[in-house]
Amino acid sequence: MIVLVLAPVVFFILATTTGLLNHFSVLSHSHVIIDALLLAFVVAAVGTAVYAYRRISDINREVERRRQAQAQAHSFARHDPLTGLPNRGFYTERLQSVLYRLPPGRFAAVIVFEILGLRLVNDARGQYGGDIALIEIAEGLTHVVSSDMLFARMGGDNFAIVIPDMESIDEAARLARIVAGAIGRASFAGDTAGSLAACVGVAIAPDEGLDADTLTRRAELAMERAMRTGRSSICFYAKEMDAHIERRGEIERALRAEISGTSIVPHYQPLVALDGDRIIGFEALARWNSPTVGPVPPDVFISVAEECGLIQDLGDRLLRQACRDAADWPDDMILAFNLSPRQLKDPALALRILSVLRDTGLPPRRLKIEITESAFVGDITLARKIIEELRGVGVHIALDDFGTGYATLSQLISLHFDKIKIDRSFIRRLGQDTDSEVIVKAVIGLARGLGLVTLAEGVESASQHGSLRDAGCMQGQGYLFGKAVPASEAAAMITATKEHAAA
Ligand code: C2E
Ligand code: CA
Ligand code: CA
Repeated sequence: MIVLVLAPVVFFILATTTGLLNHFSVLSHSHVIIDALLLAFVVAAVGTAVYAYRRISDINREVERRRQAQAQAHSFARHDPLTGLPNRGFYTERLQSVLYRLPPGRFAAVIVFEILGLRLVNDARGQYGGDIALIEIAEGLTHVVSSDMLFARMGGDNFAIVIPDMESIDEAARLARIVAGAIGRASFAGDTAGSLAACVGVAIAPDEGLDADTLTRRAELAMERAMRTGRSSICFYAKEMDAHIERRGEIERALRAEISGTSIVPHYQPLVALDGDRIIGFEALARWNSPTVGPVPPDVFISVAEECGLIQDLGDRLLRQACRDAADWPDDMILAFNLSPRQLKDPALALRILSVLRDTGLPPRRLKIEITESAFVGDITLARKIIEELRGVGVHIALDDFGTGYATLSQLISLHFDKIKIDRSFIRRLGQDTDSEVIVKAVIGLARGLGLVTLAEGVESASQHGSLRDAGCMQGQGYLFGKAVPASEAAAMITATKEHAAA
């Protein structure tokens, strides 16, 4: 438009000032104006064409740029940025299309696995070390996964492989073994092999589901079972796993409804000094006989409470009740109380325990907190801080189930435990295999060297009792001395023991 207006004006000025009008004296001013307009038209047409061409190129460039950005965004949205593998969303889409196209008489498989041990890598080498390990694992496994399969990162330490078309389910079993083996042998960034492991769950289509979500959920249920079975385990989905989930749902609903009632109470199991078999105190063990779902074992409802965020509330209530009961016992009786790993992630825990002690009047020196090694997976700094706060006011700390986890000697020393409770799996095998005997004796010797008290869990027979006492174990707990009983029976046991001692 600007060209259209300016061109005749410029032409007219130039023509006048350069004497062009004089040169073409025959021409009148009006001819010049017409020529100027014609020229302007030509210039404008050319200008417009050039302009239009440029605009179209710009638009094309912009369209291409946007298309590429969109493709990139699409790819980012479908891939895990760390490993470059398809993410969960893309996996679900592809699995669904695999399941639609599954030919009759053929099978497809979903293999999901979680890598164990990465948290320890993070602790030792920082987040960056953990990321490198994940990238190396993903790269290593792409060599065992063939091109027609789908290999995806589902999030965190979880991965999935889809086998789209199999003749027999043996192929899935074979690949699951290869994956578990490869991760068990993996060494990365100069680490020795064996620090990582994978727990693998497998579900098979069409029998176990023909929609992506169901099949994945079932493979994940199988993986959870594998995790409970042990490192490097492989589990195939079985129908009762769904029943297990249903039962957990019922337990959760009942727990929410009954948590502030009176159906969950602490019972007390005696702790005995092995030199003279005196009762020195009791371990509080939670018992729940629910009016709606019946009796539920504590390890089950404690883990449900952890998962659904009720553990603080439940733990506080149980501790308050246990401290109230223990405050009525003689002053030399201790109360051992279990803290779940999740509770040790709460920075206000020590304060809350102290306020319960203050309210109930139980002296802190009579409380022994029991913690398992799994509490130190993850944020060990916070767990250490809580332990130090509690120790600072005189509460004692015991390491529970010793021998079942991965606590190192240096961790034990640095965390300043007062007591080690040797797990009952070692005590059960005493007298049956020499390894357990050697381990138990070594632990007792080690603990003595570090100035720690030792307690043997699960003492059931007189012969176990005898071997433990001979090995120098200081305390014991188990059915031989008594099961967990309600508060009133514990009080009666104390009275009977005192009367016996006096006699
Ligand atoms: P734990 O802390 O290792 O408790 C000892 C478990 O061993 C108890 O199981 C006890 O009944 C059992 N036990 C004791 N003596 C023997 C024996 O001679 N033989 C056999 N076979 N077993 C014996 P229980 O009461 O079923 O508790 C299981 C777990 O649940 C506990 O293991 C503890 O980790 C957890 N738990 C129980 N009460 C609480 C609680 O109030 N809070 C938290 N956080 N956890 C709790
Ligand atoms: Ca315990
Ligand atoms: Ca224990």
